[in-house]
Amino acid sequence: MSLDPLQHDSEDSRADDEVFSLYAQEEAVIRRAEGMIEQLDMVSDGVKTLADAYRIGYRETVRLVRISDRMQLELHQANRILSAQAEDLKQLNDALRKEIKRRERLEHELRRIASIDALTGVHTRRYVLELAEYEQRRLMRHGKGFVVFMMDLDHFKRINDQFGHAAGDQLLQDFGQLLRSSLRKSDIAGRFGGEEFLALLPETDLGTAEAVAERLCEQTRAFRSPWKETHLRMTVSIGLAEVGGEEPLERAISRADQALYEAKSAGRDRVVTYSPAPAR
Ligand code: GH3
Ligand code: MG
Ligand code: MG
Repeated sequence: MSLDPLQHDSEDSRADDEVFSLYAQEEAVIRRAEGMIEQLDMVSDGVKTLADAYRIGYRETVRLVRISDRMQLELHQANRILSAQAEDLKQLNDALRKEIKRRERLEHELRRIASIDALTGVHTRRYVLELAEYEQRRLMRHGKGFVVFMMDLDHFKRINDQFGHAAGDQLLQDFGQLLRSSLRKSDIAGRFGGEEFLALLPETDLGTAEAVAERLCEQTRAFRSPWKETHLRMTVSIGLAEVGGEEPLERAISRADQALYEAKSAGRDRVVTYSPAPAR
C-alpha cells in the first residue's frame, strides 16, 4: 500500500481514506487521552484542594483541641486555686466564729466579775448602784418608790480575831446566801464593802420591808456555820429607809445608814427604820 498522496487511483484513494480515517481515529484517541489527562489534572487539582482543605481543617481542629486542652488545664488549675481559697476562707470563718464566741464568753465573764461579788455571790456595790438608778427611773414613771436596807454584821472583827480571816470569809459567804434567799427575785442585793451589805426592795411598802428585815435578822441569829470543831454564829444590824419621788438614792442610803448606826447604838442584832415615807 502506497502512502503517496499524489497517487489518485481509486485504490489509492481508498487507501488514503483509510489512512485519513486512521489519523482521525488516532487523533480522536489522542484527544480523548488528552481530555482524560486534563480531567486527571483537574481531579488531581481537586484532590490537592481537598487535601489542602483537609490539612487546614485538621490543623484547625488540632489547634482548637490544643486550645481546649489548655483551657481545660487552666480551668482545672483555677478550680484547684479556688477550692483551696474556699478552704482557707472556711478556716478563716471558723477561726473568726470561734474568736467571736471566745470574746462573747470573755465579755460575759467580765460582766459577771464586775457585777457579782466573788465571795458572797450577791451583786457588787457598783452594779447595785447602776441597777438602782435604772430601777428608780422605772418606778418614778409609775409613781412608786422602794425601800433601802443597809446591813452590817455585828462585831465582825471579833470573829476574825477569834477564828481567823477564813472563818470570817465563810460567814460572809453564808450571810450572802441568807440575804439572797430572804429576798424576792425582783429585789436587788449587794455587798457594799467589807461586812456591809445593802438591799433595794422595789414596790415594797415599809411595813412589808420591816417584816422582811426582821425575818432576815432572826434567820441570821439562828444560823450556825460548821467550822472545824465548832459552829460559827453571827448577828446583823439593819437600817431601813424609804426612797420616794425623785430623791437621789444617796440621800436615802445615808438615812438608812443613820438608822443602822442607831441599831448599833441600841445594842446591835436589830432592825431600825429611819423615818416613815415623806408622803405619809
Ligand atoms: P460593829 O458591830 O460595830 O460593826 O463591829 P465590827 O467589828 O463588825 O466593825 P468594824 O468596822 O470595826 O470591823 C469590821 C471588820 O470586818 C474588820 C474587817 O477585818 C472585817 N472584814 C471586812 N471585810 C472582810 C472580809 O472580806 N473578810 C473577812 N474575813 N473580814 C472582813
Ligand atoms: Mg460590822
Ligand atoms: Mg462595818
